[in-house]
Amino acid sequence: MNVKTRFAPSPTGFLHIGGLRTAFYNYLFARKQGGKMVLRIEDTDQQRYVEGAIESLLRTLAITGIIYEEGPFSVNGTLEQRGDHGPYIQSQRLAIYQKHAKELVESGKAYYCFCSSDRLAQLRYQQEIAKMPTKYDRHCLSLSKEEITKRLEQGESYVIRLLVPEGETSFEDVIRGRITIANQEVDDQVLLKSDGFPTYHLAVVVDDHYMGITHIIRGEEWISSVPKHVLLYRAFGWELPVFAHVPLILNEDRSKLSKRQGDVAVEDYLAKGYLPEALLNFIALLGFNPKGNQEIYSVSELTEEFALEKINKSGAIFNREKLDWMNGMYIRQLPEETYLEYCQKFTLSDFGVSQEKLQRIYHVEKERLVRFDEIPSKIQEYLIIPEYDVALLVWKKSDVLDAKKHMEALLRMCTDFPEATWEDLPLIEKAIWQYIESNEIPSGNVLWPLRVALSGAQHSSSPFELLWVCGKEESLQRLQCALQKVAASS
Ligand code: GLU
Repeated sequence: MNVKTRFAPSPTGFLHIGGLRTAFYNYLFARKQGGKMVLRIEDTDQQRYVEGAIESLLRTLAITGIIYEEGPFSVNGTLEQRGDHGPYIQSQRLAIYQKHAKELVESGKAYYCFCSSDRLAQLRYQQEIAKMPTKYDRHCLSLSKEEITKRLEQGESYVIRLLVPEGETSFEDVIRGRITIANQEVDDQVLLKSDGFPTYHLAVVVDDHYMGITHIIRGEEWISSVPKHVLLYRAFGWELPVFAHVPLILNEDRSKLSKRQGDVAVEDYLAKGYLPEALLNFIALLGFNPKGNQEIYSVSELTEEFALEKINKSGAIFNREKLDWMNGMYIRQLPEETYLEYCQKFTLSDFGVSQEKLQRIYHVEKERLVRFDEIPSKIQEYLIIPEYDVALLVWKKSDVLDAKKHMEALLRMCTDFPEATWEDLPLIEKAIWQYIESNEIPSGNVLWPLRVALSGAQHSSSPFELLWVCGKEESLQRLQCALQKVAASS
């Protein structure tokens, strides 16, 4: 079988984290099976259309590297109509849906409905107070052929509805198993709206059929629409694709992932300095368990491991701490050049310091950075020394005099460092340790006051890193400053 999947977003806003996962699963599955993935923009609900949403979606997909092999767009996100394959923008395919809706009317599987919105609202209201299911009452099903022709000729506004047959509808979902629903629970769904646009249900079925989609992988929220789709496939006499509905992504409190509890747009995560590859790794594992305890997977490894049968049924919690941890892991794996490019992109200002100093900060921070948007505040930590209390210079059971003694010794030592030592972090580290070891001093008694003198903070980078980043002049000045504080307090 030639596997073909699709990602079919509606341009109603930014690409959501859940949408990215759907796109990625479709991509992984198609890639694993040696198939193709189609991108289709589902814009038949013109009222929900958001200006710029298509461009933003394409941009985000391009950044993540999810590639679709068919669709109207080039990978760099520009609109490009490809004659052979589309364009797959539903609003440009209205005639196809209209033709198919009318075919269903001709074969008795659908019917015209001229009911006004007032009548429908009234009907709904009555059904609601009678605590009945709200469904269309088939008022227009009894219209004669002549009457319909007459009303159509008069240009009366109409919709086309599916005539849901009696019985029940059953389908198999790879993740959820067999699902059966009594047809009496299914409304005579509108297929073609009065503005000539199809509803989602008609457009999705017609497109999935003609685009040769073999596997529909999408969010669980669409599962309730499947019976309507199955009825449509049957009405057209088409073969069903394979369905796989993936579980919801949840907040920590198990509510549906929402903006109220943090970002949901992929663009927001990218703007905060999460790496696309970390995001993909993280979201892939929301609802999909490859095996064992491995957490870090390349796209190739994920492709290798991916199987619809391995997707969980229950909702997956979006654990931001885990995402942060994973992003840190990816940052550490970045090639130096790429890492520096990211750092520069997020630095936002020159902070009035030399490139060399910035490079030294980037270098030492690589081991602990969680997100690139932390870069400006990390830089500030090296540049600005906060007001601090003399007591902070004292390590545990030691005292001010002891701190003073070591700072004086360090000040002398650092003053005499050869130029080459200031250039080399390991050499700085070696020299300080030599002082500690040759004098047999508990290391905290030396390293703590040195670190506080250089940073003014309870928590900071190591004293060696601070010396290397601050450089000779600044380091000596900070040590002198600390000694003056001690002198002033005694
Ligand atoms: N257009 C739908 C959306 O915006 C997707 C429906 C589907 O995948 O069938 O998410």
